[in-house]
Amino acid sequence: MQRLQDRVAVITGAGSGIGLATARRFAQEGAKVVVVDLDEVAGTKAADEVGGLYVQADVSVEDDVVRMFQTAHDTFGSVDIAFNNAGISPPDDDSILTTGIDAWRRVQEVNLTSVYYCCKHVIPYMRRQGKGSIVNTASFVAVMGSATSQISYTASKGGVLAMTRELGVQFAREGIRVNAVCPGPVDTPLLQELFAKDPERAQRRLVHIPIGRFARAEEIAAAVAFLASDDASFITAAEFLVDGGISSA
Ligand code: NAD
Repeated sequence: MQRLQDRVAVITGAGSGIGLATARRFAQEGAKVVVVDLDEVAGTKAADEVGGLYVQADVSVEDDVVRMFQTAHDTFGSVDIAFNNAGISPPDDDSILTTGIDAWRRVQEVNLTSVYYCCKHVIPYMRRQGKGSIVNTASFVAVMGSATSQISYTASKGGVLAMTRELGVQFAREGIRVNAVCPGPVDTPLLQELFAKDPERAQRRLVHIPIGRFARAEEIAAAVAFLASDDASFITAAEFLVDGGISSA
């Protein structure tokens, strides 16, 4: 018997990076995977690869989020796991002194408001089932801040972490666990895009990671699979750092 056998798992941002690696891992562990992504080409490819269902959705749009959980439930009969992971990188020059309100709002909408929508619309399914596991993607910057000027991004991830704690405490007695994974720098298209704009930033980051390298997306996926599974049955409202030690260095 595999750890996630027949669990229905909705993963946002599953077309790339951490979400894609987690879709692969969940499928290997027996889950029925619903791949959600704005990018139709990447999402379809990922769903085909893992034998899952693709739903195109923009997680910053509430109606899309309602539809994606409804589709998952209509197709498979339950929603057991929600990995609320889709996110965008900080805008250029994301300093408190320079970031404009439109850029700030966009980051909050995609990284934070999306998690609010996802939790708001998946919890009713999980309450009816009397169980469920939610994992939200925050970041190491939510616990330590960042010297590289990414105020809108850091604030959005801090919000994800605070929401996770609140919901984890609030719904613990209803069998719903809510945890946050806090990755350190992970070698994905999101990070590569950031470093392409500022190559020195990669070197500066690297020297602060005690393990001495960036994470592979599969290493984050392994932690998410653990949190989503019954192996983590006494873990809720937690910030689960998978950061190569960077937040303690
Ligand atoms: P990625 O860019 O490789 O993948 C993100 C996916 O999300 C893409 O497929 C993209 O199409 C999708 N997406 C973006 N906006 C969307 C929207 N509005 N609706 C639906 N889908 C959308 O990024 P990644 O590195 O895998 O990042 C995944 C998550 O991990 C993000 O929340 C990111 O902030 C977080 N994170 C990443 C790192 C890192 O170093 N890569 C570190 C800490 C946290």
